[in-house]
Amino acid sequence: MSAEYRVDLDAFARNLARVREAVAHARHMLVVKDDAYAHGLEAIVRRAMTEGVEWIGAFDVETGRAVRAVAGPNVRIFVWLLGGAEDLAAGIEADLDLGIGDHALLDDLAELAAAPSPARVHLKIDTGLHRNGIRPEDWERALAALSRLVDAGKASFEGLWSHIAEASDADDDDAREIFLAARATAVGAGLTPQFSHLAASAAGFAREAFREDLVRVGAFSYGIRPAGGPTERDLGIEPISTLVASVTSVEGDAVRLDLGSLHGLPSVLEGRFSVETPAGPRGVRAIEPTSMLVDAWADAAPGDTVIVWGRGGAVSATDLAELIDTIGEEIALRVSPLVPRRYTSNGPRTAR
Ligand SMILES: *Cc1c(COP(=O)(O)O)cnc(C)c1O
Repeated sequence: MSAEYRVDLDAFARNLARVREAVAHARHMLVVKDDAYAHGLEAIVRRAMTEGVEWIGAFDVETGRAVRAVAGPNVRIFVWLLGGAEDLAAGIEADLDLGIGDHALLDDLAELAAAPSPARVHLKIDTGLHRNGIRPEDWERALAALSRLVDAGKASFEGLWSHIAEASDADDDDAREIFLAARATAVGAGLTPQFSHLAASAAGFAREAFREDLVRVGAFSYGIRPAGGPTERDLGIEPISTLVASVTSVEGDAVRLDLGSLHGLPSVLEGRFSVETPAGPRGVRAIEPTSMLVDAWADAAPGDTVIVWGRGGAVSATDLAELIDTIGEEIALRVSPLVPRRYTSNGPRTAR
């Protein structure tokens, strides 16, 4: 066996229940970008549907359509990377909720030939991240354009949203002020959004005032805790995945592990963490593109399996991330789609 990525779908379901509880009375929008944070879109969406998730955050139209194909008609799917008219038409066709943070897209919507149904628009105010989003100085002009689209039956105003850094409470507070002002302006212009949303995992859990109607939670759903922040236990979440590798050879007092198509761990991690072996934790000596050298144990033999990181391991993805000043997602995403996924479950929970 080469490396394998094991995903415990029951642990995922427990995290979903925990997120639902933590963000109440808002709804949980499960974010599934990057192939559901590398856990595999299809299995994750399937289980989320069984667990009653009502909103999925799917990043782009392609992912949104893939989610729709798995999830069927009874879920709202929000996408927020839209390239232009073609994307808009495809998004409407697939019954997606469209996050619009660029005035040009409103113009595209106006010019779109008769769509089967009005576009469900979530207008994005830029609250300081400057990635995309309508700048406050352009907000009234965007509202006027949206108002014309609504009057023409080409759009419905479903949501007002933004994305915040979640790096400091003070910056988030400033962002929220801009968000609230944008909403007041919209309401004043006769445009009251059905849904407001601005928080992701961290602010959604920690700060009640940021929950609004929907909280877009990715990381915590998958049990990925924030770097430098609270523990999984504090948050009530658990890692759901385990990267397993097998011993291919014993080389003196070390063993070589086959990591297969991992996108590599940086060699600066050499000597800085342990993997979980059948005999307990052992230090990692060397990291090579497709393999790793680890301190051997007494009866180590080819075929033995070792937990590199994750559930049941000596370290989590975020533990590794902290050693190189990044975030747990960045480590999780190194498990390339070529590493086979194996899903385990004892079936959906019966009580909710
Ligand atoms: C990735 C993303 C999220 C989820 O963030 P987490 O910190 O993983 O919960 C929410 N909203 C947007 C716009 C995102 O890109």
